[in-house]
Amino acid sequence: MPIYDSHVHLKHGDAARTEYAPETIVETMDAAGIERSVVFAMSTTTRRSIGMAQRAAQAFPGRLIPYVYALPNYLRPVLSEIDKAVSELGFRGIKLHAGECRLAEYLADPVFELAAELDVPCLVDFLGDFAAARRIAEGFPKTRLIIAHLGQYLCASAERHDRFIEIAEGRENAFLDVSGVALLWKIEDAVRRIGADRVLFGTDGPHEAPDTASFAAREINKISMLSLSDAEKEDVLGGTLARLLKM
Ligand SMILES: [Zn+2]
Repeated sequence: MPIYDSHVHLKHGDAARTEYAPETIVETMDAAGIERSVVFAMSTTTRRSIGMAQRAAQAFPGRLIPYVYALPNYLRPVLSEIDKAVSELGFRGIKLHAGECRLAEYLADPVFELAAELDVPCLVDFLGDFAAARRIAEGFPKTRLIIAHLGQYLCASAERHDRFIEIAEGRENAFLDVSGVALLWKIEDAVRRIGADRVLFGTDGPHEAPDTASFAAREINKISMLSLSDAEKEDVLGGTLARLLKM
């Protein structure tokens, strides 16, 4: 079963707004044994995120899968840019980030409605805001919502992860991305409670420490070492994303 990475940055949201060339991402994938990766840019406009991910997908068709970044803009209606990226340019999902664009109804809800219409998932970093996650998972049952980082990046609170797992329990439209999770046993909990078919592996890379390939390999290893069945690991490491994106 091939490994698919559901969360890779062409441009990060770190202090330096670090960017990575598609070539670097694919070299990293080759070294770590990753067949396909979802790629997107943040910390930039929706328009530029489309340009960056489109170039990446064209340079490596079938290996890099583009998501569009949703960020409101006073100058341009981004909803039509998102619509065009998916309907005409082959984008397969939408990324939102609560840190750069608050998830208030008037800002984010049109994006979740459009995602349901276009039948693409929304990958959302909630920064630990489980009230927002619950509101959106409940309010948009036809939108496939991917909750990044099991709710919060490098979260040290098992209870907080539990709140997000609870939100996904019994809601078929909610998925959990387990990139950037430090409390690894919470990944096992998530699989037990909602099933491996709604849990997604991601590296949240590239990261340089110690180098991009070793970082990616270590993230894969975190899943391989868990107390899960082989079938569950295969789902988390690729099967779930393949079904979600109908690959
Ligand atoms: Zn990320």
